[in-house]
Amino acid sequence: MSSQSRSPNRHVKHLDPRAPFVIDTHDLGRSPGSMRELERIEQAPQSIGIDVIAIREGASIKLSLRLEAVVQGVLITGRAVAEASGECVRCLEPLTLPLDVYFQELFTYEPDPRQKKTAQDFDDDDPLPELIDGMADLGPALIDAVVLNLPYQPLCRPDCPGLCPDCGQLLAADPTHKHSQNDSRWAELQGLVFEDSASIGDTEHLGDGSSSQREQEES
Ligand SMILES: [Zn+2]
Ligand SMILES: [Zn+2]
Repeated sequence: MSSQSRSPNRHVKHLDPRAPFVIDTHDLGRSPGSMRELERIEQAPQSIGIDVIAIREGASIKLSLRLEAVVQGVLITGRAVAEASGECVRCLEPLTLPLDVYFQELFTYEPDPRQKKTAQDFDDDDPLPELIDGMADLGPALIDAVVLNLPYQPLCRPDCPGLCPDCGQLLAADPTHKHSQNDSRWAELQGLVFEDSASIGDTEHLGDGSSSQREQEES
């Protein structure tokens, strides 16, 4: 899983209005029903995803957002289009995956500090995110949406044959690749040793009794 998990922003005091996923909602107004649409192209400030596949840091993310004022706050419906990159879990070749994800989050208006918190506020384990100085941080909702839409085991193609378990050869590059019983690497190695001894012929040499012995008997 991602190390960037959702965290409620109730303790965050300020948001940087220039941060990629911070949206200023001031000009929407507070009249329920008012609506605004906007598009932004941002660069991922850090890798967004999981180890094997992610929108890499610096990659473009096209955001299409609809902001709607509702009674409790601002409802933001978003679409993010980006390209994730990673590697195939079978053959380890690099791959890219187009992403087109949707997310929606209700950002509540900041409570009036003069109002006392109710017991319900304290009981709420997963509170709705709040607007901070009229700004919404879409980061957590966007990260959740991206991670949920990424495959945990990305494949370069559904039928990727992977790597040869014996020698690591990329099987997609050589579909007929296989090792028969007589063609194992050990047999080849033994063949080389045998040829080596044979080429020496009947010359006496230490520590190699059997093959040179047989060579002498045959000749
Ligand atoms: Zn593959
Ligand atoms: Zn092989």
